[in-house]
Amino acid sequence: MVTLTIDGREVQAEEGAMVLDAARDNNIYIPALCSNEAIKPYGACRLCLVEIVTNGKERLVASCLYPVEEGLIVKTNSERVMNNRRTIMELLLARCPSLEVIQDLAKRLAVDKTPFKLEDKRCILCGLCVRACEEVVGVSAISLVNRGIDREMASPFYEFPDACIGCGSCAYVCPVETITLEDVGDTRTITMPNPKMQKTEFKLKKCKICGNYWAPEKQLDYITKTLSLAPEIFDVCPDCRE
Ligand code: SF4
Repeated sequence: MVTLTIDGREVQAEEGAMVLDAARDNNIYIPALCSNEAIKPYGACRLCLVEIVTNGKERLVASCLYPVEEGLIVKTNSERVMNNRRTIMELLLARCPSLEVIQDLAKRLAVDKTPFKLEDKRCILCGLCVRACEEVVGVSAISLVNRGIDREMASPFYEFPDACIGCGSCAYVCPVETITLEDVGDTRTITMPNPKMQKTEFKLKKCKICGNYWAPEKQLDYITKTLSLAPEIFDVCPDCRE
């Protein structure tokens, strides 16, 4: 274990843990939109920046990417941190002013307006969906493309990606709830925030016992092929299995 100080409190953390995790484990709030414990940290949103003191020197780092060290001093709400964090929040608010999650977080960080030019985007470009699709699902159906102000989450030719299996992991991890998933009857509909991409429907598999529609057929095909399972294994939903 490693001992460090966060906001004047001595805390312990596992060696190799990131400062953000150490803070969360000790109920110390650091805002972060692009972090998810199932996905490798990436430092995209920069909201989790903190000030650290090492060898007498202070600097700002993204706490999701900075590993704990013995004797490390961390300040999560110094004036410098708060000023930088507010500017990042103002940029996010300018980019996505209509997203409820962004509005709520801005309020929490005492940001009620933004000096930057307003846009009406529905994606903060954190890339969590892309990383979930690649790292967790193993499909890589979507990606972040282009540079600078043209950066966007997209699929090849902006068509709904053929590779997508309809698993919904991207919607599940999206921190601003902008990728939507709706199951109605035998159909799952997934809608991406990029207006150039269309929404797509997936047929759901019906359980042979209870008759409930429970998972996209395409996702179940993918799992049976990837793991070399017998296709009949998914004739019955998890609730009806012993
Ligand atoms: S629903 Fe499609 S795009 Fe989203 S994570 Fe699953 S495979 Fe990837």
